[in-house]
Amino acid sequence: MIDTHAHLADLPEGVVERAKAAGLTGIVAVSANLTTCEGTLRLVREHRGYVHGALGVHPTEFFDQSLEAALEIIRANARECVAVGEIGLDYWHKLVRKDAAMKERQREFYIRQLQAAREVNLPVSIHSRGAWGDCIELASCHGPGRGVFHWYSGPLDVLDEVLDAGYYVSCTPAMELSPELRVAMVKAPLDRVLIETDSPVWIKSLGRESEPADVQLTLRHLAELKGLPMADVYAATTRNAETLFKI
Ligand SMILES: [Zn+2]
Repeated sequence: MIDTHAHLADLPEGVVERAKAAGLTGIVAVSANLTTCEGTLRLVREHRGYVHGALGVHPTEFFDQSLEAALEIIRANARECVAVGEIGLDYWHKLVRKDAAMKERQREFYIRQLQAAREVNLPVSIHSRGAWGDCIELASCHGPGRGVFHWYSGPLDVLDEVLDAGYYVSCTPAMELSPELRVAMVKAPLDRVLIETDSPVWIKSLGRESEPADVQLTLRHLAELKGLPMADVYAATTRNAETLFKI
């Protein structure tokens, strides 16, 4: 069982040990800006073989970031990492919604990081909120041809395009409350689904923020939704993560 998307650099010490105690066999630590890229690299080195790194600048955090520095850190550390991410587009973000120049800059960050992923031959972890169609279109033009549409809650016709293009989709404990995420996960075949937490995220039923160990919740929800034994979903999603990230 692998948490394929956690903002580990934003989480307190101790969550890695708790993930191990909960039976997780690995964590993919994603980054969102240049500071968390450094934090991710530190965690990868500290927990080698257990914490797997993804570097990149998030579509809601690019405003004060240097694109050239982001591309440089992705290229320079590609051999130590398993993915480029979290990258993508977020057309619902308040600074992008009404500002064409900001939106253009967000797209530039996404496209250049997709190209860097292709260049270093790593899969991408994609945030696509409110921009699902453009995310798959640009990934198909510029990306490495493999990756995951993380926390996919977009329309089902775009889900078809995402799956046809060979991408995985992932789900989080938010399945508990999100009809969009549930509908997408019912439709996506199990051999293309990954589980994750996107931690830290507030989980209402737990009354606290999530951490990687909570990927067990995601697993349970997905098994219920698919009407399959937990063991089958555990095996399939672990295999999917190992295949995509080569871990
Ligand atoms: Zn995330």
